[in-house]
Amino acid sequence: MRGRADAGPAGACVDSHGGSPQRERSMIPAKTISRAAFHPMSAPDFVPAELLRELQLSRLRGVVTRAWERVPLYRSRMDEHHLRPDDVRSLDDIARLPFTVKADLRDTYPFGLFASPMEEIVRLHASSGTTGKPIVVAYTQQDLDVWTSVMVRSFAICGLHHGDIIQNAYGYGLFTGGLGAHYGAEGLGATVIPISGGNTDRQIMVMRDFGVTAVCCTPSYFLHMAERAAQLGVDLRALPLRVGVFGAEPWTGAMRSRIESLSGIQAFDIYGLSEIIGPGVAIECPCQDGLHIFEDHFYPEIVDPDTGAVLGEGAEGELVLTTLSKQAMPIIRYRTRDITALMSGACPCGRSLRRMKRISRRSDDMLIIRGVNVFPSQVESALLDVEGTLPHYQIILTRAYGLDQMEVQVEVTSETFSDKIGALEQLHDTIADAVEHVLGLRVEVTLVEPRAIQRSEGKAKRVIDRRLQP
Ligand SMILES: [Zn+2]
Repeated sequence: MRGRADAGPAGACVDSHGGSPQRERSMIPAKTISRAAFHPMSAPDFVPAELLRELQLSRLRGVVTRAWERVPLYRSRMDEHHLRPDDVRSLDDIARLPFTVKADLRDTYPFGLFASPMEEIVRLHASSGTTGKPIVVAYTQQDLDVWTSVMVRSFAICGLHHGDIIQNAYGYGLFTGGLGAHYGAEGLGATVIPISGGNTDRQIMVMRDFGVTAVCCTPSYFLHMAERAAQLGVDLRALPLRVGVFGAEPWTGAMRSRIESLSGIQAFDIYGLSEIIGPGVAIECPCQDGLHIFEDHFYPEIVDPDTGAVLGEGAEGELVLTTLSKQAMPIIRYRTRDITALMSGACPCGRSLRRMKRISRRSDDMLIIRGVNVFPSQVESALLDVEGTLPHYQIILTRAYGLDQMEVQVEVTSETFSDKIGALEQLHDTIADAVEHVLGLRVEVTLVEPRAIQRSEGKAKRVIDRRLQP
């Protein structure tokens, strides 16, 4: 199949096979995505892999040197391993460097990992930290420019460009989601509506009255917005809204299907974390088969979560990231706790950036119930396969007689709820069977009426753990 110079939508999964690879590479931007949508900042997405590896090595050596020279924690860790920055001679040598974990960021609170003097730091963000001190992250002006550029590239991959109207419903403040998406949208040349999270009725009014074409928020909050819109008689499918950029919480492919069928938009999964930069570490292209990692700035590895050994391409394990260009706070081999795999093979979109599988679980999220490993996302995928349920659920953990008890509360549709008792009982058994099938564990299932489970305007709270309460 030939590439189409002016075919839309931007970055559509045009099959670029069939031509000479050399020619394809040089022609990629013009051939595979529409000119209107190609943003100059997206050029690194298409850099040949060998050039990208050279760039990564040179940046890795630079960032390790900077960390070693300026951050006592990195210097002492490397000294313990008898390592000097010069020992990084190839990309594989990264595996010799010690890991960094979240506790390191907490233990050096607030500014202990900074590699720039305070007068060069132009922005601070912090995690919301439910217990104890938050973790603090810092940016120089150059760091902010990099962050904006990866967010511009993220939006461009989703087919957004100048002329789009982007409703940014991520929270503004210390959380990186709001400002990260904000400057990316402005950098793209789009119109940004900095509405932040909350006040769902106003969100829907703005979405309709301002002709919003794209929305950024958590997937669970968008689902809530879509349901509320239906209640208010606003048909999202009839609005110009066509793209959702959703992140900040793990979600499943089944959840995406539900969102897309409900609203008629294309829902893209964006990945990032404050420790590394914020949103904009990786994003799906329109092929929706894995997330392209902005490898020119973030170097990915997959390791065995138990042993820390580096795993090969395709193997599932914990994502470890190294910032390749960060000045204010270089992060070497950060254990993200997110479980994924690096994908092999070229993406039909033509980008040379490697892809990782979408993250539907974190090793931190793992619950151990009566000796069985349980992830909330497994429950979600089971529920989404059952007709008559809504993708709103909560897992309640309690302990009785020394044994863990797990209850799954599931909202059912109003039609189902008003149905005969017999139908509800049947649905209950179907769900209990579906959950048992994926978990290998029989758990208590409770059907609740629509909107019985509290909605979040940010990250959904899927697990309520009452096991430690008296
Ligand atoms: Zn792609």
